[in-house]
Amino acid sequence: MTYEEAPACERHESKVPMKLRTMHSDAGQPDVLVGLFECPECGHERRLPIQTTDAA
Ligand SMILES: [Zn+2]
Repeated sequence: MTYEEAPACERHESKVPMKLRTMHSDAGQPDVLVGLFECPECGHERRLPIQTTDAA
């Protein structure tokens, strides 16, 4: 499984990459994983959909 580069936390001038904590699938959109990202510096959490590339 792959995902795009981790998003940067919006709360810092410098780009602080957020860490992926958990992933879960959306029942309504089985092809889309929702990743919960957390900033290691301030703890800000953010949910982002993660496109999976299973589609042939
Ligand atoms: Zn942060």
